Amino acid sequence: MDALVQEIKLPVLGTNGYPLQDAAVYGPIHSRRYGYSLGINPLPVTYKFCDFDCVYCQYGWTPRAGSVARRTDEKLKSLPELISEIESSFQKMKAQNTPVDVITIAGNGEPTLYPHFLDLVAGLLKLRDKHYPNAPTGILSDSSQCHRPEIKEGLEMLDERCMKLDAGDPETIEKINKPIGGFQLKRMLEALRNLREVAIQSLFVQGSYDNTAPDQIDRWVRAIDFVRPRAVQVYTIDRPPADGGIRSVPMNRLREIADICQNVTGVKTEVFD
Ligand code: SF4
Repeated sequence: MDALVQEIKLPVLGTNGYPLQDAAVYGPIHSRRYGYSLGINPLPVTYKFCDFDCVYCQYGWTPRAGSVARRTDEKLKSLPELISEIESSFQKMKAQNTPVDVITIAGNGEPTLYPHFLDLVAGLLKLRDKHYPNAPTGILSDSSQCHRPEIKEGLEMLDERCMKLDAGDPETIEKINKPIGGFQLKRMLEALRNLREVAIQSLFVQGSYDNTAPDQIDRWVRAIDFVRPRAVQVYTIDRPPADGGIRSVPMNRLREIADICQNVTGVKTEVFD
């Protein structure tokens, strides 16, 4: 009878009811654009760990340290624990012939907050070389930590850097991304400008919060022009946001925003759906 009883592991949900990633390795998720994309989550699996609190976040609101909203006292994994968990997942996937086209560090919050980020990248690259040597590596980051030398070094060891920039003025960033702690927009823009081959990802919303007004777009375009990324990807929400009053931006407005950016800066700007 005992053998018939299986442990059912339910995913932990964010405040918006959307599930968090439940392991250090998740996916791969298939998409036309990227093929089989494997996610690496160096962060906890029972709460979001981020220094932003974006109103559109798919994982809901960011629970503060020590608050009941964190629900657990789960600690960040040590580097050896994390690398060993990633390695055993890679070994299992290889044994099952799981295809992996790209490996992306992201997970339940901001991955550069992992305290051994540089060593994590170095360890991940070794595992990639051993198990999936043809898969490029990348990261999705909120850009808040890229001014720190060791974070810049880790970011630049990866093949791709997709860095967030949702506005070019501090007031809009304050409203949309709600940074927690000592955030400085000027410092972030300078760090992004100094980072090798950056792709900027900018998410636009309307409804209870809005970063699509003409003056906001004007300042965002000026920030893009300052950073000079290799590309800009413009998109809107497609998952339940933290704030229920948010709406996605119509495709024609996203295209207008992308066209303005490309015409003014000359940087290739695409709408992602
Ligand atoms: S930076 Fe990403 S994980 Fe953090 S709150 Fe914003 S959308 Fe969520």
